[in-house]
Amino acid sequence: MKILLNEAEIGLGIDRLAGQLKAHYHDQPLTIVSIMTGSLVMLADLIRRLEMPVRISLIQASSYRGGTKSGELIIQDHMMLDIKDRDVLLIDDIFDTGKTLVQVTKRLKEMGPKSIKTAVFLNKLGQSTVTAVPDFVVFEIPNEFVVGYGLDYEDLYRNLPYVGVLEESDLKNHVAT
Ligand code: 5GP
Ligand code: MG
Repeated sequence: MKILLNEAEIGLGIDRLAGQLKAHYHDQPLTIVSIMTGSLVMLADLIRRLEMPVRISLIQASSYRGGTKSGELIIQDHMMLDIKDRDVLLIDDIFDTGKTLVQVTKRLKEMGPKSIKTAVFLNKLGQSTVTAVPDFVVFEIPNEFVVGYGLDYEDLYRNLPYVGVLEESDLKNHVAT
């Protein structure tokens, strides 16, 4: 698999994001809402670099799709903490068309947070179909289908410590589950 971002580069990127969040929120308590399942690895790495009081909430956004094409979005928020009057940071693994982040942000706004910002691990350049942009981006990447560091293909590869481009030749070894 072609490696796009190695473990050391990712570590530095998450350090940088933690610094930006520290500069923005200082010691204010923060509620991080993590979009399952792709952003879990980023969540685990990020929170251990933050020193303000942090609450963690999970929300699931998934589209009915197998493989690489996005479909209709289903949002499940039964695992959400109360975010009324809280400063909220919504995190996701990748900003592609932008629909996921826009729709989840809209749902969270209905819950009455004091503020809401968004952070993504990857921003796929040139793909956005929405006017919104994430407030914080760890890495910009070209328009290729990537896996690893939380990102999956058919629910596999999330555990790779690096980000790789999944190519046709890699799929020969793919074991469907
Ligand atoms: P959007 O709603 O911005 O189009 O898509 C965001 C979601 O699509 C991500 O949370 C992720 O699940 C999926 N996605 C988009 N591009 C990629 C990619 O290159 N690799 C993987 N594994 N998932 C992607
Ligand atoms: Mg996702």
